[in-house]
Amino acid sequence: MTAISAMGENGAAAAFVMIDLDGFKEINDTNGHQAGDEVLLAIAARLKSIAPEGASVARLGGDEFAVILPTLAANTDTVENWASSMIAEVAQPIETDIGPLAVTISAGIAVQDRGDAVGELESAARNLMHRADLAMYHAKKEGRNRYCWFNEAMEIEAQVRREMEAAIRSGLERGEFSPHYEQQIDLETGKLVGFEMLARWHSPDLGFVSPEIFIPVAENCGLIGPLSESLIRRALSDAQSWHPSLTLSVNISPMQLRDPWFPQKLLKLLINSEFPPARLDVEISEKCLRENLSAVQTMIVSLKNLGVRVSLDDFGTGFASLTQLRTLPFDRVKIDRSFVGELRRVAEAAVGAEQHREHQDHIVSTLVSLGQGLQIPVTAEGVEDDSILETLRSMGEMKGQGYLYGKPEDAAAVIKRLSELDMLAERARTSPSNDPDEQRKSA
Ligand SMILES: [Mg+2]
Repeated sequence: MTAISAMGENGAAAAFVMIDLDGFKEINDTNGHQAGDEVLLAIAARLKSIAPEGASVARLGGDEFAVILPTLAANTDTVENWASSMIAEVAQPIETDIGPLAVTISAGIAVQDRGDAVGELESAARNLMHRADLAMYHAKKEGRNRYCWFNEAMEIEAQVRREMEAAIRSGLERGEFSPHYEQQIDLETGKLVGFEMLARWHSPDLGFVSPEIFIPVAENCGLIGPLSESLIRRALSDAQSWHPSLTLSVNISPMQLRDPWFPQKLLKLLINSEFPPARLDVEISEKCLRENLSAVQTMIVSLKNLGVRVSLDDFGTGFASLTQLRTLPFDRVKIDRSFVGELRRVAEAAVGAEQHREHQDHIVSTLVSLGQGLQIPVTAEGVEDDSILETLRSMGEMKGQGYLYGKPEDAAAVIKRLSELDMLAERARTSPSNDPDEQRKSA
């Protein structure tokens, strides 16, 4: 705030640089707050030493800093050169009491609009800060450890994001999100063995919104936890009508993986629904293994202590090393659909694709044998047609799921399917109605 009013007073500032440390929370969590404080002090000192003459450096709070560059320094090339060297300088390891720590920063840069009237300097400064903040957010999204200039598109994007956030918030209150279920099949016998729950959103204003759109927004605005928990609660209740041999798989977000209370929350959901933990499978994406591995390990152990199973999702797309696969006690690996689906596209392609097909077979069969070698059961995602199914069956025992078995369906459609297969739970069979909504009302 002091920095902003300083801008307002002298009116000389021309570029506002918003700086945020990358992954500072993890640094604190892993190394303790004292090391975190040492890092903050060292970075503040580095920013001061590298700032051009006439610039002001301020800590805005937490792990956020701002640098205000004077008019003279504000031509694009000078600012860019300075920003690049600032980022490189800050990334040098910092000597702390517990040893050297390296931390990177993301920065957003906005340049003052010269059309602003003198009397409106304070609001102009706030606007500038807001724009630099949007640019910084963009730098984070682009992969951190970099700077971005503000542009108008970011303002529009932010507006869309705010509207989507508001829609998610009210959608959550109004129960617009519903669990859908994708069948999981034992490829050997062709028998239904369980379902993976997938989130679906039908918004009265926006129509059907893809989870690829709403999940990242919910993750960003901190709503993913409540959203996921409400869907898991409903899924556990839906699954009570299923035959006891059927399992329920749920996906959890990296945000939930970082929440030390998540196992407690899940335990509460399990107890309230009286659902046997052994029938619940929690899927963790391989991408999560990139961050704090010891935290992931602790989480997996806590989940397994509840009695639930833990699967490695999107296997093949992340960076799991053999060592990680051996150390982390996964109960199952799920081969990503991008590899499995490719088996068909290659089969459909013209002559000459034979070699490519063998290559894809090779990737899938390597992932399968990796699972077999580690004695971890395998599920193949993206089973889209019979030719894929045949190829997979030739590779050994596994479960599969995909559009060959139909699209994910809602709770009522699942009940209908199970009733036809004679796979309803005893209590659902004796219930006067097989409609889950009716059951919920009468419960
Ligand atoms: Mg999954």
